[in-house]
Amino acid sequence: MTEKKVRNLKNYINGEWIESKSTETIEVINPATKEIMVNVPQSTQSELDHAAQVAHDAFTDWSNTAVPKRARILFKYQQLLMENKQELAEIITKENGKSLNEALGEVQRGIENVEFAAGAPSLMMGDSLSSIATDIEGTSYRYPIGVIGGITPFNFPMMVPCWMFPMAIAMGNTFVMKPSEKTPLLVEKLVDYLEAAGLPKGVFNVVNGAHDVVNGILENEHIKAVSFVGSKPVGEYVYRKGTNNLKRVQALTGAKNHTVVLNDANLDHAVKDIIGAAFGSAGERCMAAAVITVQDGIYDDFIRKLKAEAEDIKMGNGLDDGVFLGPVIREENKARTIKYIEEGEKEGAKLLLDGRERACDEGYFVGPTIFEEVTPEMKLWQDEIFAPVLSVIKVKDLKEGIQIANKSEFANGACLFTDSASSVRYFREHIDAGMIGINLGVPAPMAIFPFSGWKSSFYGSLHANGKDGVEFYTRRKVVTARYSEPDFS
Ligand code: NAD
Repeated sequence: MTEKKVRNLKNYINGEWIESKSTETIEVINPATKEIMVNVPQSTQSELDHAAQVAHDAFTDWSNTAVPKRARILFKYQQLLMENKQELAEIITKENGKSLNEALGEVQRGIENVEFAAGAPSLMMGDSLSSIATDIEGTSYRYPIGVIGGITPFNFPMMVPCWMFPMAIAMGNTFVMKPSEKTPLLVEKLVDYLEAAGLPKGVFNVVNGAHDVVNGILENEHIKAVSFVGSKPVGEYVYRKGTNNLKRVQALTGAKNHTVVLNDANLDHAVKDIIGAAFGSAGERCMAAAVITVQDGIYDDFIRKLKAEAEDIKMGNGLDDGVFLGPVIREENKARTIKYIEEGEKEGAKLLLDGRERACDEGYFVGPTIFEEVTPEMKLWQDEIFAPVLSVIKVKDLKEGIQIANKSEFANGACLFTDSASSVRYFREHIDAGMIGINLGVPAPMAIFPFSGWKSSFYGSLHANGKDGVEFYTRRKVVTARYSEPDFS
C-alpha cells in the first residue's frame, strides 16, 4: 500500500499562500482516528517579520477605508460563513475531536462575533459635548492602532480566532494570526471566505508555527497589540514579554470552574446541564465545569443521577451520529488525564466513575470520570486538567460552596443551580468569577459582552469581545475646540 502524502500547510501573507522556508514541521492529527491530516511548518521569526511588515504596509489604506465599507465586507463574510456552517463544523470536528453538534455551536458563536464587528460604524462612534466651557466644545474620535498579533489555542479553532480578527479589522487595524499548531485548518478555511468577501490583500495574514512565531509577534516593532488565548503559563509569558516590549496585551488564560447546586435546584435540569458542561468537548473548554459543590439535602440523589447519565454518554468519533464525547487532543493529554486519575486516588479522593475503563487506543479517548470527597488541598481540585474529569464535593450551604470556589487561583466562570432569588443575588455578590451562570452549565457570554475572566484566568485590563474589544482595538483623539461667536456686523 502506498503511503498517503501529507501536505504542508502554507502561510498566508499579502493575499498569497506561501510555502514556509522552515523544514521543521508539526503533525496535525485527527485525535479520533490518529490520522495525520497536514503538517504545520514551524515558521521562523523572519517569516513573522515579513507578515508584520506586509500588515504594516496595508494599514494606511485599510485604516483610511470608510468604516461602513469595511463593515460591508464583514456583512458579506457573515453571509458566506452562514452558508458554509456544515463544512466549517466538519473541519473543527476532524482537527479538534469535539462532536459535530458542538462544532456547529462553535461556528455559530464565531459568526456572532462577525455580526457584532459588522456594527463597526456605530461601535466606532465617539462622544461629544457641545459646551464644556463658554464657547468650547469637546469631541472624541476613535482610530485603529495598527498591526495586531493574534495567538490562539487548540480548543476553539473558529470561535477564538473570531474573538479577535473580525473586530480588529472592522476597527481599521491589520492583523497577523498564529493559529494553534494543533488545530490550524479552520483558520485556513476562514481565509478563503475572507478573500471571497473582498478583504484587500495584506489586511489579514496567517503565519503558522509555534513558539518562534509567538516570540516574533511579541518582539516585532510593527505589532502594537497582542490578543492571546491559551494556558496560564503561556499567557503569563506573553503578557510579561508583550507589555515589556510596550505593547497592549490581553491574555485570556486557564480556568477551574466551580458550580454550586442547592437543595432547591431542579435536579434533572442541573444534572443534564452539568453533564454537558463537564464532559462536552471532552472537558477541553475554558468554561468547562470542573468542580461541583452540592448541598447535602440533595447530594445522594444528585450523585446517583449524575453517575447514571455519565455512564450513558456515547463516546466516539464526533462525526458519528449521537456521539457526545470525543477524544482529548493528543496522546500526551490522554496520558496526563490518566495520571491525574491515578494521583486523585492516591490523594484520597473517591473514584465514582473511572474514565480509564473506557479509554481506547483508536484515538485519544478517555471516558467520563467523576471523583467524590475532593478537597482544595488536592491537585485534582487545584489544577486545570482540561479533560473529562469532574470533582464533586458535599457542602452544607451556599456560603460553603462559595468559600471553596473562591480558594481557586482561577476565576473564569461559576454557576449556581437554585430556585431562590436571594441565593442568586448572594452568589453574584460573593463569588470570585468574571462570568456567572444561573441555572445553566456554560455561562460563555455572547459576543456583545466581554469574556471577562478574573484572577489567574486573565491578564490585562480589556477583555475580548463586547465594548472591551472595541476599546482594545482602538485609540482615541479628543478634540477641545473654542469657537467664538460669528461676526454678524
Ligand atoms: P497553550 O497555551 O498551550 O497554547 C496557546 C498558544 O500559545 C498556541 O498558539 C501555542 O502555539 C502557543 N504556545 C504554546 N506554548 C508556547 C510557548 N512555550 N511559547 C510561546 N508560545 C507558546 O494552550 P492550548 O493547550 O492550545 O489551549 C488550552 C488552554 O487555553 C487552556 O488552559 C484553556 O483554559 C485556555 N483557554 C482559555 C480561554 C479563555 O477565554 N480564558 C479560552 C479558550 C482556551
